[in-house]
Amino acid sequence: MFDYLIVGAGFAGSVLAERLASESGKRVLIVDKRNHIGGNAFDHYDDQGILVHKYGPHIFHTNSADVFDYLSRFTAWRNYQHRVLGSVDGQLFPIPINLTTINLMYGLNLNSTEAEQFFLSKAEEVKDVRTSEDVVVSKIGRELYEKFFRGYTKKQWDMDPSELNASVAARVPVRTNKDDRYFTDTYQAMPLHGYTRMFEKMLNHPNIKIMLNTDYHEIVNDISFRQMIFTGPVDEYFDYRYGKLPYRSIEFKFETYDQEKFQETGTINYPNDYAFTRITEFKYLTGQRNAKTSVVYEFPKAQGDPYYPIPKPDNMELYRKYQLLAEQTADVWFAGRLGTYKYYNMDQVVAQALSLFKKISAPAPHRGTYA
Ligand code: FAD
Ligand code: UDP
Repeated sequence: MFDYLIVGAGFAGSVLAERLASESGKRVLIVDKRNHIGGNAFDHYDDQGILVHKYGPHIFHTNSADVFDYLSRFTAWRNYQHRVLGSVDGQLFPIPINLTTINLMYGLNLNSTEAEQFFLSKAEEVKDVRTSEDVVVSKIGRELYEKFFRGYTKKQWDMDPSELNASVAARVPVRTNKDDRYFTDTYQAMPLHGYTRMFEKMLNHPNIKIMLNTDYHEIVNDISFRQMIFTGPVDEYFDYRYGKLPYRSIEFKFETYDQEKFQETGTINYPNDYAFTRITEFKYLTGQRNAKTSVVYEFPKAQGDPYYPIPKPDNMELYRKYQLLAEQTADVWFAGRLGTYKYYNMDQVVAQALSLFKKISAPAPHRGTYA
C-alpha cells in the first residue's frame, strides 16, 4: 500500500517524492516510462566519457533562494554563466542583443544612452503587446527582429512570431549595456556531478520505490495507493477528451569531434541558416576536461516526445478545459511542465512542486490541479 503514486521522475515528480517521503513520512511509488530518472534534465556520460544532456542543454538559473537552497541539499554546484552567440549574416553576435551586438552589426561606437536612443528610433509603436512579434518590434524594430527572431522562431515553433504569445520571445531580453550573459538570475550554476547524480540523491530514501521502463497504465490497477501525482501530459491523462494539446518536439543530434574545442561559446544560435536552431558544446556547461568534445544540434519537429507546450491563445483555451477537469478529479494532483501545460524552466517546476507539497500537506482537504 502506497500513500502516493507519482507518475514521472523529472523535477516535478522527484521533488514531490522527496518532500512527501522525507518531510511527511509518506510511502511513495514513483514510476517513469523511460529507463532513467531525471526526466528531461537527465544527463549521462557518452562513449567518449563526456557528460552530455540527453534531452538538450539544461542550464540551471534562478532568482529563488528557496529553490536554490532546496536543491543544494542534493548537490554541490559549479558556477557557470551561460553565453550565447547568434550567427547572422555570416558573423557571430552576442545574444541577447546588447550594446556590443548593435555596435558590431552597424559599425557604431554607441554608449548605453545612445543605444537606448538607437532602439527607440527603430522601435515600432504597438498599442497592445500580445504576440512575440509585438514584443520584439516594439522594443528594437523590424530589422533586428527579422535578423535575430523571426527565422529562429519559425524553425523552433513552425509558426510566425505573430501567432505566439508575447511570453515566448519575451524570455530573451534586449540590453543597452555590454552584459553578454544569457541569464541575469542571482543563482546560475550547474550541479557539480551532473543532474542525474542530484536526482539519485533526492530519491534515495527508504520510503521511495522507483519503477522505471513502466507506463503507469501498466500498473495503476494492480497497485494500491491513496493519491496520485501526475506529471505527464495532462491531455493524455484524460484520453484526449477535448482533443490533443499541441506540443513541440526536438530531434537531438549528438556529435563528438576529435578536437578539444568546437566553438567559441556554450551555445551558438542559427536563426536563419540550417534546419537546426542551435549547437551546444557541453564542456562549457560542465567544465569537464577531455581531449575530445561533444556537441548537440537541435532540430525542432512536430512529432516526437512532447517537450514544449506551445503558448498561443487557442492552446491556452484548450488547456483551461483540461485544467477544469483536473480540478474536478478527486485524489489526483497535476504538476510540472506537461501536467500543467506551462513553458516552465527547471526552477519554476521546482518552485511549483514545493508549493504543491505545502498545499497537499495542509490540513484542509484540497483537490485537483496546481496552477
Ligand atoms: P519532465 O522532465 O518532462 O518529466 C516528466 C516525466 O514523466 C518524463 O520523464 C516522462 O517519461 C514521464 N511520463 C510521462 N508520461 C508517463 C506515463 N504515462 N507513465 C510513466 N511516466 C510518464 N529549463 C531550464 O531551467 N534551463 C534550461 O537550460 C532548459 N533547457 C531546456 C532545453 C530543452 C531542449 C527542453 C526540452 C527543456 C529545457 N528546460 C530548461 C526545461 C526543463 O526541461 C523542464 O522545466 C523540466 O525538466 C520539467 O520537469 P517536469 O518534471 O515537469 O517534466
Ligand atoms: N528566440 C529567437 N532567437 C534567438 C533566441 C530565442 O527568436 O536567438 C526566441 C524563439 O522564439 C525561442 C524563444 O525566443 O523559442 C525563447 O528562447 P529560449 O532560448 O528561452 O528557448 P529555450 O531555451 O526554452 O528553447
